[in-house]
Amino acid sequence: MNAARVDVEGPLAIVTFDVPDRDVNVFTEAALVSLTDTIVAASDRPGVRAVVVRSAKKANFCAGADVESIASVTSQAEGQRLARLGQQSFQRIERLAKPVVAAVHGACVGGGLEFALACHGLIVSHDPKTKLGLPETQLGIVPGFGGTQRLPHRVGVPVALDMILTGRLIKARAAERMGLADDCVCPYQIEREAKRYALELADGKPRRNAKRRRGALRLLGRIGFVRRFMLSRAKAAVLARTAGVYPAPLRALALVDLAFSADREAAFVAEATAVGDLLAGDVAHRLVDLFLLMERLKRRGAEGRGLRSGDLVGVVGAGVMGAGIAKAFLDRGARVRLVDVTPDALGRGTRAIAAQSAKDVSRRRATANEARATLDRLETDTEIRGLEAARVVVEAVAEKIEIKRQVFAKLERACPEQALLASNTSSLPLATIGAELGSRGRVVGLHFFNPVERMPLVEIVRSPTTSEATVVEACAIVRDLGKYPVCVKDLPGFAVNRVLAPYLAEALLLVEEGVDLDVIDDAMRRLGFPMGPIRVLDTVGLDVATAVADSLKPTLGARLAEPRIGRELAAMGHLGDKSRGGFRVRRGKGSVAAPWLADALTRAGAVARSPKPDADEIRDRLWYALLCEAAFALEDGIVDEPAHLDAALVLGAGFPPAHGGPVAVIESLGRAAVVARLEALHQRFAPRFQTSAWLRG
Ligand code: NAD
Repeated sequence: MNAARVDVEGPLAIVTFDVPDRDVNVFTEAALVSLTDTIVAASDRPGVRAVVVRSAKKANFCAGADVESIASVTSQAEGQRLARLGQQSFQRIERLAKPVVAAVHGACVGGGLEFALACHGLIVSHDPKTKLGLPETQLGIVPGFGGTQRLPHRVGVPVALDMILTGRLIKARAAERMGLADDCVCPYQIEREAKRYALELADGKPRRNAKRRRGALRLLGRIGFVRRFMLSRAKAAVLARTAGVYPAPLRALALVDLAFSADREAAFVAEATAVGDLLAGDVAHRLVDLFLLMERLKRRGAEGRGLRSGDLVGVVGAGVMGAGIAKAFLDRGARVRLVDVTPDALGRGTRAIAAQSAKDVSRRRATANEARATLDRLETDTEIRGLEAARVVVEAVAEKIEIKRQVFAKLERACPEQALLASNTSSLPLATIGAELGSRGRVVGLHFFNPVERMPLVEIVRSPTTSEATVVEACAIVRDLGKYPVCVKDLPGFAVNRVLAPYLAEALLLVEEGVDLDVIDDAMRRLGFPMGPIRVLDTVGLDVATAVADSLKPTLGARLAEPRIGRELAAMGHLGDKSRGGFRVRRGKGSVAAPWLADALTRAGAVARSPKPDADEIRDRLWYALLCEAAFALEDGIVDEPAHLDAALVLGAGFPPAHGGPVAVIESLGRAAVVARLEALHQRFAPRFQTSAWLRG
């Protein structure tokens, strides 16, 4: 394969990285070898004094190792070999006598950044698309082409740890500020600057931006005991966040230490060994599979037109969800017409959007000018009108069928024929909402999750009358909002709420049996859930959770327990975080069991079990309640492919990606083993823990 070409311009060789038949440059084994050989050969050319490497791809320098290739590696030895190949290739570049400068415009991540770190100079373009990072730990591996060794020396231990452990991508200016890049220049000047810099280096002039690399914190990381203190704090933070179910961040911590405590060669061998070990394990493969699955989900709307900047979008209902949805569209350049019944409600919605915009500015996600332009695209009205040019309207009014039907009847009259009419309902059948409309083909569910700005999932609800063209367009719009579409059937609770309901009910039963709240939450946190079920209930709100359970009861029947405690707390006005406490109340930085909990348990008629359920029972009841309902949802064909249910739960419910999702868990345990465990639980806790035909099939 020829992944790069050379043009000689006087004393400079310009190497253009251009992996054939790909939209972005990725390192397959062949591409890696080809790029390295091309650079080495170019620098050997007579008369050449320096090399500049650029990319032929639009807005992409290099996306790193090819994820499909990573997915195909299952043995330790193969993983280690590939990492060694990458390391040795980049060492060849690092050791060249003539300087090599990377001119980075667009994304430069993973192996791409590891390549740039091995070059003698790195110039980045000041462009929103230019982003640098090492996201390998998000795929369950560690940077394996020398990144864990070169990055800490370049940016210091604290910044390197942050980048490697979170996979965070750094913008161009910040990359220059932190000393990662040598210079940051306008996109149209990048080649000229890279060439000039390459010649400066060839003339023996010092590296640009060198003084940034001499900061105190950076030097402190070189001192053994200080570094070990930094590493132990980072390790404690990783363990607190993930309960240690992800091996990659822990391996990365040890490798960053080696960057200063071992000789280069030994550290490189350790890095490659870690890549091999991690690729031979299950977690990396689950994360890689999920990554590839998410990419496929995004392609679902490939033929759709999607959202373009300047499109008109209607949002009806300016409450919690309406405001969040409107903001998501505004952020993508759409004009949004927000409708609610009263000016007061519109004022609340507008203020919520403005507050979110202000947060974007303070977090440097947007400039003040961008935030102002975003708000300028918002218009409000107390009537459904002015939507003659709308592309899509999302209804997010109160969860009442009569109100929704009235809104849809008005929308059908107010919107053009081709506009999508979408509902954000969480529990009402889409078919009923659109039953009386003449154009039911364009009625679809766009089920966003709360809070909209943070939740990456949107369930695309399809009723029997929703047209395929509508589904494709809905998927394209969701993709353009930067979220992931998962198509679901129009059944109560759709995918996420349905699978979660029996799990949350089981947690409530455990509370009624006298199990401590922390014991319940910790059981799930130890499996890698970011929040335990009681914390989830307080976050969602006990009124909302009760309403969802009520809407699911007719479908789930005996599988859904009917604990009284959540309902009792809601009736007492203790709804959770939104009413300053539900099961727990805030105390200092943490929270404790609410003072009214004992009273609520008495009112609910709860009887503590003696002896209390032990840790194994607690974990199994929660875990299998979720797996059990996932299997029933599959039997009902809730999603197009079983794996989509995994994506939905990971993206919409915080299911730990380390386990791959409920379907991946069932398949890895083996369906027969899951059936056996459910039968044992059913014997003790009938009528719950039933086994679906899908599990027995
Ligand atoms: P909310 O009570 O915060 O907001 C509802 C808004 O709709 C209010 O501002 C109300 O004035 C307005 N409204 C009522 N009737 C209207 C009408 N005829 N025309 C225009 N506006 C009208 O509710 P929410 O939490 O934003 O939920 C809205 C929808 O989103 C519901 O269908 C809900 O099931 C769904 N949903 C909610 C969540 C959540 O966590 N809150 C999550 C997913 C989906």
